[in-house]
Amino acid sequence: MAELDLCIRNARIVDGTGGPSFFGDVGVAGDRIAAVGRVEGGFASREIDAHGLVLAPGFIDIHTHYDPQICWDRLATPSIEHGVTTAVMGNCSLTLAPVKPGQSAKLVAMFSRIEDIKAPTFAAGVPFTWESFGEYLAHIRAGLGLNIGALVGHSALRWYVMGADSQERVATDAEIAQMCRLLEEAMAAGAIGLSTSYVDIDENMKPVPSRFADMREKIALCQAMAKSGRGVLQTVPYFIDVEEQLKNIAELGELSRASGVLCSLAPIVSSPLGGDAWRRSLAALEVEREKGGRVYAQSMPRTFDLNIRLSETSFLLFGLPTWNRFMGLALPERVTAFGDRANRAQLVSEGMLIAPLLMAASVGEVFSAANRPFAGRSLLQIAGELGVSLPEVMLDLALADGLRTEFCIRGAIHANIESVAEILSHPLVHIGASDAGAHIAQFCGAGDTCYLIERFVREHKKMSLERAVERLTGELARDWGIADRGVIAEGKFADLVLFDPETIARGPEVFVGDVPGDANRYLRRAKGIEAVIVNGEITLERGSYTAARAGRII
Ligand SMILES: [Zn+2]
Repeated sequence: MAELDLCIRNARIVDGTGGPSFFGDVGVAGDRIAAVGRVEGGFASREIDAHGLVLAPGFIDIHTHYDPQICWDRLATPSIEHGVTTAVMGNCSLTLAPVKPGQSAKLVAMFSRIEDIKAPTFAAGVPFTWESFGEYLAHIRAGLGLNIGALVGHSALRWYVMGADSQERVATDAEIAQMCRLLEEAMAAGAIGLSTSYVDIDENMKPVPSRFADMREKIALCQAMAKSGRGVLQTVPYFIDVEEQLKNIAELGELSRASGVLCSLAPIVSSPLGGDAWRRSLAALEVEREKGGRVYAQSMPRTFDLNIRLSETSFLLFGLPTWNRFMGLALPERVTAFGDRANRAQLVSEGMLIAPLLMAASVGEVFSAANRPFAGRSLLQIAGELGVSLPEVMLDLALADGLRTEFCIRGAIHANIESVAEILSHPLVHIGASDAGAHIAQFCGAGDTCYLIERFVREHKKMSLERAVERLTGELARDWGIADRGVIAEGKFADLVLFDPETIARGPEVFVGDVPGDANRYLRRAKGIEAVIVNGEITLERGSYTAARAGRII
């Protein structure tokens, strides 16, 4: 046998195929798995005794927004800590390339607005030294800690070709041809597919460029990317209205049949407000499947919990015009505006629109002595005791803390364990939609991988460990065209995660100030992850990053 660089012995191997786990060793030579089963002693330069631990293929997260963060943080923290060895970014029609010299402001404005990454963070952390998508990939490639699959954002592509017209009209034949040529070039440079959006609005409340595309443009783009032999179309549906969402699913079926590419709709969530929308959506996916389309949805194991701090950003407040306007001010002016009694009546009446969510809110972190007695308590209870409305109590508490008070909305959306388990078990649903790297001052999406095992395998026994691992690895690699990854087998890339099935957990959210441009984010530190191996290199061991940076553009 060839010399091994690494041998993990006595593991319970869950190989990502969905088949029963088995006990054995896995040998690694270079960046590949060289042996599985019983590996004779004395060959490897590094040995790990994995007694009591599970060895699985590295997890794949198909829905992240690390496009800006990867510029200053090649580890895409904290995803690797949650066992992720491959992250797909560029979702929801938004990427930072292609971009014409001097025209990055539009991409930054859209990204800031839709994904809640602040403009000062872009200014401090994203250099925009590239124009083409390939040049962007070349920029981020050096020193990657994990594998990156990069979708091309349809809104970025359309803006590049059509400028401001991209938010006014359908494209001409010549413009479509140019978009197709750029997409083909991006695929040749290593892109994994295209992302689009049927719902998002930009910084001026205008639909994003991708929403002005007609079917000839969408079919042409799907066929163009399919020429590369792979390609996925990810899309955000018009989830505000289920009838529209069902039409979106039918359209994705048509696109898939016309081009052969897989279409991925994100997210599907169960919510008391949405009623049976999720069930009807799953049924619509089945209809497209019967007609020969490859249309999948993404859903996440995480209850859609959010934190609001009026000192940060919050997409919950987009629909409240006065709140939204004040949230756009610099902090000192924001404090004045929210505190001005002349604005109070308007703020309160608008705030009642989100009262159903505020009913599920509790007070988290507080800063002033006056607020200390309220920490940990339900906002509804406090409002009742004080005899004021929910928006009023929120404003008063926030003002006492210079707007920094944390309000934690828990258990309101995607919370019903039975419904979520049914969604997560559906064969046309992929585990995704983590949104890691986005909305970072509201929640931490990284951690969904551990949470699937923690909550749905260990706590609620809704899924076997083998099936959960398959959902996070082999199935995604196969369906998304990620070659030679996602399973533990000889000859495959050695992307591996070693964890304790009894303790693996996503960990609590913590709020930290480590984002460029003097910004903050929520993080989760996983529990029970012993080691993460990327392309044969131990990248994380017992919670600490090594010097290895073996990630690739895949
Ligand atoms: Zn997204």
